[in-house]
Amino acid sequence: FDKIKNSLKSENPVNYNKFIKNLEFDEENSDSARLVIRAPNIFIANFIKRKYANKIAELYKQETGIEPSIEIVTKEIKPKNYSYEEIASPTTPSILIPEYTFESFIVGPSNQFAYTAAKSVAENPGKSYNPLFIYGGVGLGKTHLLQAIGNYLKNHKKVIYITSEQFMNEFKEHVRNQTMDRFQEKYRNCDVLLIDDIQFLAGKDRTQEEFFHTFNELYNNKKQICLTSDRPPKKLHDLVDRLRSRFEAGLIVDIQPPELETKIEIIRKKCEINGIYLPNEIIEFIATKLDDNIREIEGMILKLNAMAKLLGITDITLDFAKQALKEFIKDKKENITLEDIIELIAKEFNIKPSEITSKSRNQNIVAARRTAIFLAREFTKESTPAIAKYFGLKDHSAVSHAIKSFNKKLKEDNDFRIKIEELKNKIQIKKGE
Ligand code: ADP
Ligand code: MG
Repeated sequence: FDKIKNSLKSENPVNYNKFIKNLEFDEENSDSARLVIRAPNIFIANFIKRKYANKIAELYKQETGIEPSIEIVTKEIKPKNYSYEEIASPTTPSILIPEYTFESFIVGPSNQFAYTAAKSVAENPGKSYNPLFIYGGVGLGKTHLLQAIGNYLKNHKKVIYITSEQFMNEFKEHVRNQTMDRFQEKYRNCDVLLIDDIQFLAGKDRTQEEFFHTFNELYNNKKQICLTSDRPPKKLHDLVDRLRSRFEAGLIVDIQPPELETKIEIIRKKCEINGIYLPNEIIEFIATKLDDNIREIEGMILKLNAMAKLLGITDITLDFAKQALKEFIKDKKENITLEDIIELIAKEFNIKPSEITSKSRNQNIVAARRTAIFLAREFTKESTPAIAKYFGLKDHSAVSHAIKSFNKKLKEDNDFRIKIEELKNKIQIKKGE
C-alpha cells in the first residue's frame, strides 16, 4: 500500500497531500482480492472513489497481478478518543471524561443556577443540596456539569458516574447471575453517586425499586446523590411516586438554552480546546444560525475545520463557513416540505410521486418510501404522527421503527450511506438556492 501511495505522490503531489496522504489501509478487513481503505471523512471517501479507485486498483494489479475490488470506508473524525454518540447516548461508558470540569464550563445566565449548585455540591458533598437534580434539553451541558462534580471529587471520594440505562443493565445482570449482594455493595458504599439521564428509568419498575433502596441507604448516610434528566421530576410520568418525592425533596435546577453571548463564549472555548482558530464573524455566524445544542455545534466546528484542512484553506472565510455548514443552518431546514422530498425521491428512484405514498410493496417503491420517511424526519418540522399519516403508516411507532432500521443500514453499509449523503445534499441545495 505504501508503494501505491508513493507512486500517486510522484504523480500529483498536491492531491497527494490533500487526499491521499491520510488514507489508511485496513489490513484486518482486506485480503489479496479486496482492499479496504479508510478515508478520514466522507468527502475524501467520495473523492477517492470517484477519482482514484480505478487508479489504485490498477497500481495494485501491477504489483501483485491480482485485480482487487476496492472499498473505501470512512473513519469519522472524533474529538479526542471518544465519539459524540458515546457521550450522547444512554449507553455512555461509565467513565469520567477529564475535560468535563468546572473550569471548562462557561457560565452565563442560562446555566448559572445549575453551575452554582453543582459547584456547591462538589465543595460540600452530602452537606449542601441532596439530592441535586439538574434538568434541561439535549446538549445543554447536563452531563458536563455532572461529570465536573465527579472530576472535582474523584481523588478523595469514592465516586460512581453512571447513566440510568447502565444502572438498569447492571442491575438486571446481577439479578440474572444471582449476585445482587455485589451490586448492592458497590452502589451502597460509594460517597458520591452521579446518575445521568434518569428519565430512562421511567416505566422500569423493578430497577426503580432497587434504586429507591440504594437512594435511601446513601441518603441516610449523608452520601451525595446527583441526577440529571431531560425534564423535571414532576414530568417524569412513569416514575413511582415515592422516588419522585425523594427527588423533589432536594434541589432542582434547570439549564436553559444559552443566550447568544454565552453561546459565543462556549464556541470560543470549544475552538480553544480543539486548537481551532475561527474569526469572530464566523463564531457569531455559528452562534446565531445553528441550533442551541452545543454538542452539535461542537461537531460543526470540527467539521468546518476538517473541511478547511482537507481543501488546504488556512483562513476560513464567512462564505466558506456558510457553504460548508449549509445543511445545518436552521432556516433552510424549515422550508423543506414533504412535497419537496416526494418530488426528489420520485425522480431519484424513477417512480411516480403517488407511488411513494401508496400501499405498494414493490421493492423499489418500498426503498423509496423509506428514504423519503427518513428525509422527512430529518429535514422537515413535521411530527412523527404527521409523517406516519402522510406516508400511510400505521402510527408514529412505525415511523420510529423505519428510521431505526434505516439508521442501522446507514451505519453498516457504506455505499448506502454515501448515496444518502448525496440525497441529503441535493434536497438542501435545491431549497437553498
Ligand atoms: P447534555 O448532557 O445536557 O445533553 P452535554 O453535557 O453532553 O449535554 O454537553 C454537550 C457538549 O456541550 C459537551 O461537549 C459540553 O462540554 C458542551 N457544553 C455544554 N454547555 C457548556 C458550557 N456552558 N460550557 C462549555 N461547554 C459546554
Ligand atoms: Mg447528557
